Amino acid sequence: MHSSCGEDVVKRYDALHDAVSDVLDVPADVLTTPECLALLQRLETEIRRLPAAGHGLINQLARQASEAELGGRLAQALANRLRISRAEASRRIHDAADLGEQRALTGEALPPLLEATATAQRAGDLGAAHIAVIRSFCHRLPDFVDLDTRVHAEAQLAHLGGAHRPDELAKLADKLTDCLDPDGDFTDDDRAWRRGLTIGAEGYDRMSPISGHLTPEARATLDAVFAKLAAPGMCNPADETPCVDGVPAADAVQRDTRSTAQRNHDALNAAGRALLASGELGQHNGLPASIIVTTTLDELETAAGKALTGGGTLLPMSDVIRLASHAHHYLTIFDHGKALALYHTKRLASPAQRIVLYAKDRGCTFPNCDVPGYYCEAHHTDPYAQCHTTDINDLTLGCGGHHPLAEQGWTTRKNHHGDTEWIPPAHLDHGQPRTNTYHHPEKLLHDNDDDDEP
Ligand SMILES: [Zn+2]
Repeated sequence: MHSSCGEDVVKRYDALHDAVSDVLDVPADVLTTPECLALLQRLETEIRRLPAAGHGLINQLARQASEAELGGRLAQALANRLRISRAEASRRIHDAADLGEQRALTGEALPPLLEATATAQRAGDLGAAHIAVIRSFCHRLPDFVDLDTRVHAEAQLAHLGGAHRPDELAKLADKLTDCLDPDGDFTDDDRAWRRGLTIGAEGYDRMSPISGHLTPEARATLDAVFAKLAAPGMCNPADETPCVDGVPAADAVQRDTRSTAQRNHDALNAAGRALLASGELGQHNGLPASIIVTTTLDELETAAGKALTGGGTLLPMSDVIRLASHAHHYLTIFDHGKALALYHTKRLASPAQRIVLYAKDRGCTFPNCDVPGYYCEAHHTDPYAQCHTTDINDLTLGCGGHHPLAEQGWTTRKNHHGDTEWIPPAHLDHGQPRTNTYHHPEKLLHDNDDDDEP
């Protein structure tokens, strides 16, 4: 910060730091119970107020900072800089949009979208959980509720939040929704806003949680698919040759001990596999849409260990061997980084390089990016190589958000480990080249000392 206004801001943040340091050193052992409780309440108030200071900064970044300057989208940049999760970064950006001052096109300052909530946050009456309740209430109000009623309802909740816990406020918000929309009269737009399907992070047991909301149409579609494929006796992995079309034999139905939830799961898996095997999906990033896995010959022969998919998840070897028995899948075998053999369907000529990239880079090579291989494009680290034969050593993976940065002031090159280095424009980060270890945590554990060397 060079401006005098910037210096003033720095002084205010220094004062905040000193004030917090003072409070950290308060001796608790001399205080009575009422005093402790009263102080905890005051502390809570200040903790609730502080996030409001971030809204203006975040909104300013959203208005003025380019992706080249941030090294990606704002949520990614905030997550990396503040070392918070991407979900948390997105939440803060959305909070700032709803609770921070708005700007008219003329640059004039306008009140926040949720003005009463913003005021209550600045006063320390509402915490993050209260604000989540109010934001979710406002966003799921049906379209026909007019602006005045919305503003009034939001103000009412902001006021109630000052005297209730977030779980109590959530119940009050549900009641208020009922009053405003007794028929549950939601429009297609309301439903479109809420629709979503989230596959959570793979757990230590390699299982992934799934959650979300289906539109009536998606629900009807899945119901029809499940009626067929999730019927008792269908798509049962316990059968030697699972029945995937037609009518299952009576004994297959009889020995089917799966729960409805388990049958739904197997049906979804069978439907997805049938779609991949049909070839109807065509190509994705230069390869037929298919499951791509990488492993080593050792692990495959001993049927032990795990293989890595292009989606960045791990597959137990028993699953890999089962996948390999199907004709329409890719299976790459790697041993100490070298491709030993390449199996692929006959329909495709030379996707080899792309498959090698899946195994080598595993995902986007931009510093701290977590996008897995399926969602990446092949990028030439040396732009001059584009006209000549493409050498695999000049290729790397970049996601849709980061690949374009290579034409916006960022450059790429390979270091002596064969890793891709991204070099920011000279005015950012002192032009320091950086690699991405997100997809290769083992490298951080083994050779973190020479990671940044050219
Ligand atoms: Zn990326």
